[in-house]
Amino acid sequence: MVKTDVAIIGSGPAGATTALDLARMGIDTILIEKESFPRFHIGESLTGEAGKLLRSLGLEERMEAAGHPVKRGVKVYGPDGKNSFWVPVVKVADGVRSESTTWQVRRSDFDTMLLEAAEAAGVRRLRGEALAPIVRDDGQVTGVTVALDDGSEETIDAKVLVDASGMKSFLNRAGVTGDKERGAYDKQIAVFAHVSGATRDPGDERDNTIIFYQQANHWAWFIPIDDETVSVGVVVPAAYFRECNETKHEFLTREFKELNSELAKRLAHAEIAIEPMATANYSYHIREFTGPGFACVGDAHRFIDPVFSFGVHFGLHEGRKLADAIRRHLEAGAPDGVNPFLEFQSYAENGQDVIQDLLDAFWLEPWGFAHAVHQAHRDEIIDLFAGRIYDLDGEPGGLAAIRTLAQRGRTRRMEQAAVAG
Ligand code: FAD
Repeated sequence: MVKTDVAIIGSGPAGATTALDLARMGIDTILIEKESFPRFHIGESLTGEAGKLLRSLGLEERMEAAGHPVKRGVKVYGPDGKNSFWVPVVKVADGVRSESTTWQVRRSDFDTMLLEAAEAAGVRRLRGEALAPIVRDDGQVTGVTVALDDGSEETIDAKVLVDASGMKSFLNRAGVTGDKERGAYDKQIAVFAHVSGATRDPGDERDNTIIFYQQANHWAWFIPIDDETVSVGVVVPAAYFRECNETKHEFLTREFKELNSELAKRLAHAEIAIEPMATANYSYHIREFTGPGFACVGDAHRFIDPVFSFGVHFGLHEGRKLADAIRRHLEAGAPDGVNPFLEFQSYAENGQDVIQDLLDAFWLEPWGFAHAVHQAHRDEIIDLFAGRIYDLDGEPGGLAAIRTLAQRGRTRRMEQAAVAG
């Protein structure tokens, strides 16, 4: 049996950030990861606030040395490339907004950098797959069993077990958390690849994210991840993908030409450089994801929809907040049987709720959304896109407008579903 203060399952952005912060606070931490790094992962565009958090972790130099493309904003093209809107990366300092930058990342490199930073800070890395949590009769989680890469099995005795296993939702599958509800965007599939030879926008716009909209729930992303390579993905209803009856390669090749003329223009001479992959039914929500001796962070408890590139942002911010909650819990020596992570849980939920509302307004009320972004509440909504979604001072007018639109859209969606039986 190995003893530690904190055991973390999964070394994606959420797990590695939690581990890095804990180790810097001097808290003994073990990070369990089943994949050998570097490993492929989708999710390559960062928000402005994710960039800021990486700088505050002292990782700016490493990000620059790695040559990750600098992102200045996101351009969104409407159907057939007719209209577009531009969302710059904007920072706020002393109440003044100014344009800023963040990064696009090749996740194999980025995730490895975070893992190495955590190890350098003193985190113990365990190569293996977490098998089952150890849960006492009173519900207190006290550790986890792990199948190590060398074929042996290890039992970890931990004061806190963190589930950062991403979409695997380890503690939910083990029956420790509340139920996993299907999210509003769960009937989607994303088919994606890296391409070479794409035509990039000129000058400073070369490395920005571009989103191409065809119709509700049918869109594509274009994310440059190095000088040569662009990540391109097409998201559609899963039923539509099945009806197409194509291989992923055939599907992408055709969608690249048909989805949006602006996408077709950029990919006219591009070649698919890796075997296309797909992820389906990825939208879910676990409401009770903390408890005595455990907490979930990042994708392990919720995934909404990737269109606004918030997954890594959630992982990084929740990871930092959770590390602080764990420190306070360990220092206070709270008794067993109580949930010391309720404040962290509300923080994470409130942040994700803001983006859920932004998404619902975008998909369900596109005209009202466009008016709010372009005219009525531009600055405040750009703040939300940048990721200033935590610990808000009241409800800014832009967010209130987004929430009204989102609620109206959800009500109509429910009425339509009721009529359709
Ligand atoms: P992960 O990064 O998934 O890490 C979980 C880790 O846990 C993995 O390394 C896994 O090997 C390990 N693990 C799992 N089970 C076990 C186990 N039993 N034992 C040991 N290890 C285990 N986000 C963005 O920010 N920008 C984007 O542009 C973006 N685009 C996306 C596009 C699509 C189609 C999808 C599906 C997602 C996208 N995301 C994007 C979201 C982003 O990929 C995730 O939100 C992010 O990776 C979550 O980080 P995480 O640390 O929670 O989980």
